[in-house]
Amino acid sequence: MVDTVILDWSGTLVDDLDAVLIGTNEALGHFGHPALTLEDFRREFELPVHRFYDRLIPGADFAALEASFHRGFRSAFDRIRPLDGAEAFLEQTSTAGVRLMVLTTLDVDNAHRQLADFGWNRFFDGIHAGIVDKVPHLVDLVERESLDPARTVFVGDLPHDIEAGRAAGVRTCGVLTGYSDREKLADCRPDWLLGSVTELDDRLRASVQRRSEAS
Ligand SMILES: [Mg+2]
Repeated sequence: MVDTVILDWSGTLVDDLDAVLIGTNEALGHFGHPALTLEDFRREFELPVHRFYDRLIPGADFAALEASFHRGFRSAFDRIRPLDGAEAFLEQTSTAGVRLMVLTTLDVDNAHRQLADFGWNRFFDGIHAGIVDKVPHLVDLVERESLDPARTVFVGDLPHDIEAGRAAGVRTCGVLTGYSDREKLADCRPDWLLGSVTELDDRLRASVQRRSEAS
């Protein structure tokens, strides 16, 4: 029985791929790197984000890179939308008494702006934004909040999310609504590999149902 779901933001609850790709190409272009197609981006992108940029534009100044990224990202902010079914998932799981938290690399200001725009603050019991490396953060979060790893799931769309969940000893769930294709996520062997958080909702309901039938 799962009582806590920790969720990545981009590509898990929110479709911000257009804005992130525009921001990324602005940053790469600033250092003379050709623009990536969406397909290139999905293949190449990884977290922590410095690994991605170190590979494509080694030695680039990170502050200049971030400033360029945010200029592009802001220009496409209006294109950011909740993923289909994400709000219903949040509504249903929080109503069922599941504790929900966000763990994202997205910077604090942008995360809170999107939360406010979507009216989603009411669903969450903790927002961990601007987290460069999710591995130590999640390990520490599980410890600090005394979460039961067997009852906690971390959901994300990137191998780094699965790596973080595994390091923290919680259940891991990969979703295919974001930046990774099935093969890339399947290679990390998450406990569950699902099409979207909507399927996670079905999975959690089934576990509640089985428990009530068994009692
Ligand atoms: Mg993500």
